[in-house]
Amino acid sequence: VLRWFDEHCAGSKRLAERAATVIPGGVQHNLAFNHPFPLAIAQARGAHLTDVDGNRYIDFLQAGGPTLLGSNPPAVREAVQALLEDCGPVTGLLHAYEVQLAERVCRHMPGVEMLRMLGSGTEAVMGAVRLARTFTRRQRVIKIGGAYHGWSDQLVYGMRLPKTGRMEATGIPRGATAHTQECLPNDPEALRRLLRWNRLRGGTAAVLLEPFGPESGTRPVHREFNAQVRALCDEFGALLIFDEVVTGFRAGLGGAQAYFGVTPDLTVLGKCLTGGYPMAGAIGGKREIMMSLVGGIGTTSRRAFVGGTLSANPLSCVAGYHALLEAERTNAPGVAARAGERLRRGLEEIIGRRGLPYVAYNIGSIVHLQTSGVLLLDTSSLWKLFRLKDEARRRKHMMEEMGAAFTAHGLISVAGSRLYTSLADTDEVIDDALNRFDDV
Ligand code: PMP
Repeated sequence: VLRWFDEHCAGSKRLAERAATVIPGGVQHNLAFNHPFPLAIAQARGAHLTDVDGNRYIDFLQAGGPTLLGSNPPAVREAVQALLEDCGPVTGLLHAYEVQLAERVCRHMPGVEMLRMLGSGTEAVMGAVRLARTFTRRQRVIKIGGAYHGWSDQLVYGMRLPKTGRMEATGIPRGATAHTQECLPNDPEALRRLLRWNRLRGGTAAVLLEPFGPESGTRPVHREFNAQVRALCDEFGALLIFDEVVTGFRAGLGGAQAYFGVTPDLTVLGKCLTGGYPMAGAIGGKREIMMSLVGGIGTTSRRAFVGGTLSANPLSCVAGYHALLEAERTNAPGVAARAGERLRRGLEEIIGRRGLPYVAYNIGSIVHLQTSGVLLLDTSSLWKLFRLKDEARRRKHMMEEMGAAFTAHGLISVAGSRLYTSLADTDEVIDDALNRFDDV
């Protein structure tokens, strides 16, 4: 596999080596998906990417999720070009597209009555947590172990190392996570105990969920888990925040909240919100809560401050609005989900026929491929998780190697373990991909 990269990706390699001299590690985004070195892309169209060396790939990275319509859809590109002709990317004042996008999102998402756009998913999660604390006048926030909510100090991935309790990520001041608590997925009783414990100590501001399970369903949750958490939040007066950065528009235009029929108090959006264009982040939620965000007419006296020079710029909004129109017109979430089903079924067939130690499953257009063994579905004790940590590391390495092998066969994945499908994935594209997977 490594020889394939040397023989076919000389242009990418040269650029990656140049990058490494001016960019730490030579990578600025998608930090985990660059084994043995990042590919330099020259062209992106629909379901395919072409690199600077002329190699063509079927793209299941989909930029990490946002390009639900496939790469570079013309309907969105043309609307963006027209906007750029008219007023350029940013003015700092109101633009009609801001309102049109917010109206459209509110129409689709049951839990979103108002929307405030920010610069990224990370920023939007930070804002939602701040808003929840302002509204409830409480400090503590509970997240689910293994969930990714961006890279802010208080919610950083991984948090504490088992045994020593030291922070896994460095540069985070002691105390930054003092009001963040973790709970395992699929264990409503443990969550109840934590909420009860907190009740005697100032209460819980919010419970933060990735509704398909931590890390976009890498640890899937039971179908009823979201409703169980909703009921517990109601019982203990905590706000329920859905982090729909990945599921927002992939699980359907109403997000995972419509999919599960569970309405959160606050919703965090990112990725698909701006149709793959920059500055994808927003907090949505119930009017009464959203009015505690600072700025504008009629906000309450208790205000949560958020900001952002480029937030809700016309470029992001025109792209988001037209991407949403196009997703409505084409039923993009449904089409992408059907492609995900076909891909998963095909992978299962290959795994079964060849007797491979892997498991494939999908939640709509998010397809997971993992080494089989203990799927972290029912992790009801912390001890079990600690024991599995080394195993998890070993598997991650294995999947990375697998990802490189996929690439050498013309398939781009999320580190060999996740595949996002899009509107552009026709049956022919999926069948072509399955032949390649079979070869790998
Ligand atoms: N929440 C979830 C569930 C995510 O998957 C991500 C990004 N992968 C984020 C938040 C952070 O979003 P961003 O990368 O835009 O800061």
